[in-house]
Amino acid sequence: MPSRLYNTTRIAGVGALAVAIGATSIGVATSTSRDNTAAARQAIQGGSARNVILLIGDGMGDSEITIARNYQVGANGRLAMDKLPLTGAYTTYAVQQSDPTKPDYVTDSAASGTGWATGHKTYNGAISVLPNGKPVPTVLELAKKNGYRTGNVTTAELQDATPAVLVSHVVQRDCKGPQSMTKCPTNDLKNGGKGSIAEQLVNTRADVTFGGGKQYFDQTVQAGNYQGLSVWQQAQTQGYRLISDAAGLAALPNNVKTPVLGAFAPNNMDLEWTGPTPTTAGTPSTTCQPNTTRSSAQPHLSQMAGKALSILDRQSQGQRKGFFLQIEGASIDKQDHAANPCGQIGETVEFDKSVKLALDYQRKHPDTLIVVTADHGHTSQIVETGSTTTGVTATLRTHDDADMTISYATAPYGQSQQHTGTQVRIAAAGPQAANVLGVTNQTDLFSTMSRALRLH
Ligand code: MG
Ligand code: ZN
Repeated sequence: MPSRLYNTTRIAGVGALAVAIGATSIGVATSTSRDNTAAARQAIQGGSARNVILLIGDGMGDSEITIARNYQVGANGRLAMDKLPLTGAYTTYAVQQSDPTKPDYVTDSAASGTGWATGHKTYNGAISVLPNGKPVPTVLELAKKNGYRTGNVTTAELQDATPAVLVSHVVQRDCKGPQSMTKCPTNDLKNGGKGSIAEQLVNTRADVTFGGGKQYFDQTVQAGNYQGLSVWQQAQTQGYRLISDAAGLAALPNNVKTPVLGAFAPNNMDLEWTGPTPTTAGTPSTTCQPNTTRSSAQPHLSQMAGKALSILDRQSQGQRKGFFLQIEGASIDKQDHAANPCGQIGETVEFDKSVKLALDYQRKHPDTLIVVTADHGHTSQIVETGSTTTGVTATLRTHDDADMTISYATAPYGQSQQHTGTQVRIAAAGPQAANVLGVTNQTDLFSTMSRALRLH
């Protein structure tokens, strides 16, 4: 086998995990030769959960998972996310703003996020508001109100749709900061609204918030008590502990007493991997490389996820109610849009490390519901090796020492590739996990998590 990227780090813990938990709940998905009936039966637990960890791979449809698996661990290998015992599919459609009785078959992350975060279908671009613009409570807000600790972690801007749907309510996803409110006049603080996504995020006061998007926290508040301050300064005034680099994250004590806001990049965080640019004629077979231009001041997703888990665990120690934590691998989607296979795979692999952390946590805390899913499907497809399509292709040499050709063909060459309207995988482990079985609707995930935490 040729020397390939990350041979040594290639999800080294997964095998050990399967051995350690295979006899109980985990491991159902991996075996092809033994009778899994007893393991599946054992994996089904009702009751309530003390903690919920929701992991969202943005745009991580079945193709994206399969591409990452083939590349990183081989066709017969299994990622950490493949180890969750109970797996189903859910539908992700949005609704039309002008006629909400009609579906919009291809959702964006805002409408789909509103679906899983609030249990309500809405239009593309809406951040936890109904088609009529009315705000609806989110699972994070309800968890907080019910006495749970809360966390929100992403590799995107913290004002991007997926993290935003948990902590804010605006009629259009672009309203990220107090000076970016032209599309949301009714939400603007100047007009008596609740403010931009950044301002609402700070006011919602999750215990742990890690991601990018510092540029919107640096915008100036336009009205109210904090007028003239930046949103970042507002957060400081309101008692937040603020951090902006990996060293600050590492130095953060787990027993921190105040809410923590970590913004580690002006916009989205840097990519893990780099690789060939697909072309209409394809590419020679090659491998992915580490992104050497990645800023070392930025933590990796798994570092943010691990720290968030440690803090929420510590803060809720000795209490009956634990925490709700959302962890997003955001740039799986963004690199799918950019037709960048290694970018997409590197983000999926890093996301999978966070899934492994969650599963490791659950091994010690079985009263934790873990859900791993996507918000919508995306464009990348594995096509016949070496073939070209009406779009662009690239060929990667995988863990199997075989060639895999990936096609991006949902938009003309050079334009942003599109989301797709397919159902996507939803996998779960722990109390209430059986509710992901079969084909459900994205909005049902809100009910599953709310039921697990007995939110009201
Ligand atoms: Mg997202
Ligand atoms: Zn997208």
